[in-house]
Amino acid sequence: MSVVGQLAMTDKSSQITEIAKEIALRQQSRAADIQRELAKIEAEKAKLQSEFHAVNFSHERLGRFSPIRGMQLQCPRCWINHEAISSLRSIGGGDKTTDIFRCNTCDETFALTF
Ligand SMILES: [Zn+2]
Repeated sequence: MSVVGQLAMTDKSSQITEIAKEIALRQQSRAADIQRELAKIEAEKAKLQSEFHAVNFSHERLGRFSPIRGMQLQCPRCWINHEAISSLRSIGGGDKTTDIFRCNTCDETFALTF
């Protein structure tokens, strides 16, 4: 009798172990999902930190902005956003009081009064 009882307990024990394995497998799958999610968040964080760094520099860049270099008007957007030197060219299309300029790099247009 006691041997039969022991076998029954051993069988239940192995069933419980199988259930534990299934639970652990599900948890591993969830862990992989969390890892992917964390990687996405880290990438987003790095992007925001880089943008934050650039935005913090904008005021300092303003102090070093030269609106004209070698008789050429300079793009304020390229300078403030990327500290890039880029000339503007007149593209016409203005009216009696304005002239329209376009950046050679970022293509932004600026309507400037005479
Ligand atoms: Zn530009």
